[in-house]
Amino acid sequence: MKLETLAVHAGRGIEPATGAVTPSITLATTFERAEDGSFPHGNLYTRSGNPNRAALESAYAALEGGAAALAFGSGMAATATVFQALQSGDHVILPDDLYHGTRFFVRDVMARWGLAADFVDMRDVRNVENALRPTTRLIWVETPTNPQLRIADIAAVVTLAHAAGALVAVDNTWATPVWQRPLALGADVVMHSTTKYFGGHSDVLGGALITRDGEESPFVARLREVQKLGGAVPAPFDCWLLLRSLPTLPLRVRAQTETAGKVARFLASHSAVSVVHYPGLESHDGHAVAARQMTGFGAMLSFELAGGESAAMGAAARVKLFTRATSLGGVESLIEHRASVEGEGTKTPRNLLRMSVGLEHADDLIEDLAQALG
Ligand SMILES: *Cc1c(COP(=O)(O)O)cnc(C)c1O
Repeated sequence: MKLETLAVHAGRGIEPATGAVTPSITLATTFERAEDGSFPHGNLYTRSGNPNRAALESAYAALEGGAAALAFGSGMAATATVFQALQSGDHVILPDDLYHGTRFFVRDVMARWGLAADFVDMRDVRNVENALRPTTRLIWVETPTNPQLRIADIAAVVTLAHAAGALVAVDNTWATPVWQRPLALGADVVMHSTTKYFGGHSDVLGGALITRDGEESPFVARLREVQKLGGAVPAPFDCWLLLRSLPTLPLRVRAQTETAGKVARFLASHSAVSVVHYPGLESHDGHAVAARQMTGFGAMLSFELAGGESAAMGAAARVKLFTRATSLGGVESLIEHRASVEGEGTKTPRNLLRMSVGLEHADDLIEDLAQALG
């Protein structure tokens, strides 16, 4: 079935007990054993499994075309699980432009547990090749990257990684399965911050891992172990909210992407803007690879102001329709001065503004940007 159909039907069904068309929320933390000690409904305790989470996980697996999926209480909980499933002494390679939480988690937290990491510019796959070590166990790809929208060639990284005996995990949050299918390109794990496009309404935190192999694979079993014992699982209501948002995911992402393309072209033509980072623009250095591995370019973009940091701060201060806030993927358009959010040590240019394009009309967003840029 096509993505639109899966988005509506995966993980859903008529409730046998009531005939309800939409799922109920099962808040119970614990479930009764049968007389023989078994669990006839497959649920034991909500940290290890819950009907709302099981439904959501099966929908996630369907949307990314994976054999298994795991839901978490945040995107970072999903990311942490992948690295915690590795061993002390293992080596990982990540992009040098990537979600700052991932960078800090690996660099500061996992380093204390003996995980070695290199951060390289993945726009050139030779940088990945040069960073490989005999102990490299995982290559983490984020494409397009946050916040500079750099593009990595997923299939090329997979070829290198698998030849070296390493797994490939792809943070697919910005592309979404609507535009990019990493498992079909050979990746082993897809990660999502479902706080973003999956939830889509800026009202629920969540994370997901979707795997090419099923529960019987030793690595997937490790992920499941960390999920259950680490305990960073989503509440039943959060699972319910996320499942409620999935049917509109393809429609939202298509509409937001169409508007983002218009906004990107407007910005690229504006004299106050020195560069627009959007892979849909032919001038973008990753355009050719993006056009090959994505079916659309997404609704995130960033741009740099010719007038430097003060011009960026000034434009962000003058917007009326955009909200100055972090995060992305919701129905409302957001703008932020990214270097301030990322804090000390960030390599993000200080004149850069990041934008999440929502569901407003393109003309209104462009008019707001035109007055803010002056
Ligand atoms: C937001 C984000 C994350 C972190 O997800 P949380 O849900 O905030 O924990 C990871 N990767 C990317 C690309 C993100 O945008």
